[in-house]
Amino acid sequence: MNAEIIAVGSELLTPLRLDTNSLYLTRKLGERGIEVVRKSVVGDDHERLTAEIRRAREAVEVVVLSGGLGPTLDDLTRDAAAAALGCELEFHDSIAAGIAERFRRFNRKPAEVNKRQAYVLAGAEILENPRGTAPGQWFEDENGILILLPGPPRELKPLFEASCLPRFDRRESPFRYFTHSMRVAGIGESDVDQRIGPIYSAERRVATTILSAPGDIQIHLRARARTAAEARVIAESLGTKIQDELGRAVYTLADEPLEAVVAGLLREKGLKLAAAESCTGGLLAGKITAVPGSSEFFAGSLVSYSEQAKIDWLGVDAAILEAHGAVSEPAAAAMAQAARGCAAQALGSPAIGIATTGIAGPAGATEENPVGTVYFGIADDNGVVVKRRQLGAGRDRVRALAVQTGLDLIRRRVLGLPVSA
Ligand code: AMP
Ligand code: MG
Repeated sequence: MNAEIIAVGSELLTPLRLDTNSLYLTRKLGERGIEVVRKSVVGDDHERLTAEIRRAREAVEVVVLSGGLGPTLDDLTRDAAAAALGCELEFHDSIAAGIAERFRRFNRKPAEVNKRQAYVLAGAEILENPRGTAPGQWFEDENGILILLPGPPRELKPLFEASCLPRFDRRESPFRYFTHSMRVAGIGESDVDQRIGPIYSAERRVATTILSAPGDIQIHLRARARTAAEARVIAESLGTKIQDELGRAVYTLADEPLEAVVAGLLREKGLKLAAAESCTGGLLAGKITAVPGSSEFFAGSLVSYSEQAKIDWLGVDAAILEAHGAVSEPAAAAMAQAARGCAAQALGSPAIGIATTGIAGPAGATEENPVGTVYFGIADDNGVVVKRRQLGAGRDRVRALAVQTGLDLIRRRVLGLPVSA
């Protein structure tokens, strides 16, 4: 089955509000094998909305409308849907009574306009909305399904979950779906696509999606087959081929972020970690401490941003900074060793120290260190290694990439993999 989502509301056409409901709906429908083939955003305009509903009903079997069910005159979804379907709106006393009851509970009186929310498309089923006054509506005829949902996400989600998903689940679909996902670190998006494009495009039974964030790429393989087991085999065998190509750059087959994988490895090996951060300014520690229970293995991070902080707090030899500068291989090595010492002292051995020092920009570049240059030091029982990486431009992006690269270096070091991807 194919679906379209129409997000209704003039606020969604301003730079101030984004339609997020359709992301949620697309995921939930997709899990049921209902493919969203088009989304649109329409302002609070009766003519445009009516025309859009008509067009969508012609195009697909399922049309989901979100928003415009409020009590005010600019909430037009009920009227536009009735116009598009050519049916009446019927007043339901029970809904009006429910709204009045809800207002009483909050010690308020319903206004006359709230009655607008008691109108339902003739023939539609009412979908109870425990979190708000406007119920949802499920209309179905020989031309397909039309669903009306309230706009506030905190109302839409539980309503859709409780009332719509079971209705979809009761319908027999000839297909079953399985999604296999993996995440990749240490390779850029275009590189990944160049390498795996020929592999996944040869498998027509799988829809492949690649989502990229700085230093983190997610690959989703969604297979369709007559049985769930068959779909799983198809998705996983394509996954194996992709893994063969990307090797250990694939850091997980579970849908978990890199810091969770690193945390798992450190726990498993009984390793303790501390960081000395310069250009990442504590962001690395932010990621690691986002993992519940990280206090077991993470001693802390010293944000040693100035040269003096590197000397006074970490004990980096002033002569190193004098001779090579703070953005240099020797500085990164000294910082990493100091961090390792802190981890061992705080939590015991064996311990790892990670250090970041670089030029996030836009200022601060030199001839030998252009913007985006970051040195990573990683110290453990086997000594210290330093990696120099060029992470591009854009301060936020460089810093985010530096965090991911630092985490990936820890992962590789702990696994005994070569530290360059
Ligand atoms: P409405 O049902 O049109 O009265 O919408 C009420 C509120 O829900 C709006 O002010 C928005 O804050 C929110 N909302 C409506 N549509 C969406 C959407 N598609 N995505 C996220 N929030 C929405
Ligand atoms: Mg609205």
